[in-house]
Amino acid sequence: MRAIFLDRDGTINEEVGFVDSLDKFRLIPKAARAIRMINESGFKAIVVTNQSGVGRGLFDEKMVAAVHRKLQDMLEREGAAIDAFFYCPHHPTEGKGAYLKDCFCRKPAPGMLLRAKDELMITLEDSYIVGDTLKDIEAGARVGVSGILVRTGYGKEEAARLLGGGSEAGNPMLYRPIHIADDLEEAIGWIILNDKKQEAL
Ligand SMILES: [Mg+2]
Ligand SMILES: [Zn+2]
Repeated sequence: MRAIFLDRDGTINEEVGFVDSLDKFRLIPKAARAIRMINESGFKAIVVTNQSGVGRGLFDEKMVAAVHRKLQDMLEREGAAIDAFFYCPHHPTEGKGAYLKDCFCRKPAPGMLLRAKDELMITLEDSYIVGDTLKDIEAGARVGVSGILVRTGYGKEEAARLLGGGSEAGNPMLYRPIHIADDLEEAIGWIILNDKKQEAL
């Protein structure tokens, strides 16, 4: 099974800082259409999102679940659906209690992708990740998942950092996207058009 992993904030919905209430969750234009294209392509659509606001005590896991239900409702109206959600509630320095953890699921670590591989039988090297930050691209690259950077959310700055040859700590140059797209819809269209990883008939 192949997947297109999707970052959430800044990729599917507008980047607004922490989504700690339902009314802060607004879809980026044509995101629902893009997810329907994934559904029709035979890829699984899997959300992988860092939600350190939980660990920081800004909102709880029930809010994350409610936001994801709202997303599914919005998508359903346009004939689209997310197949699975994975989120990381931890933070290595700001987490409270059990959420204070230098975990392997917080992107740029690839733990959520590895969980999807195990739980949903995803073939990572035949899969893609779309996100608005180089952390998303790195999480994919570390386990053989090709990355596409979108210019929504933090993507404009991230693309400039990448194309400007940034040399800051974290070494973004090691992990390059295979494509930079204006938004999720363009990214999915590009993947479907340029997919060289077709499964044999
Ligand atoms: Mg993002
Ligand atoms: Zn985590």
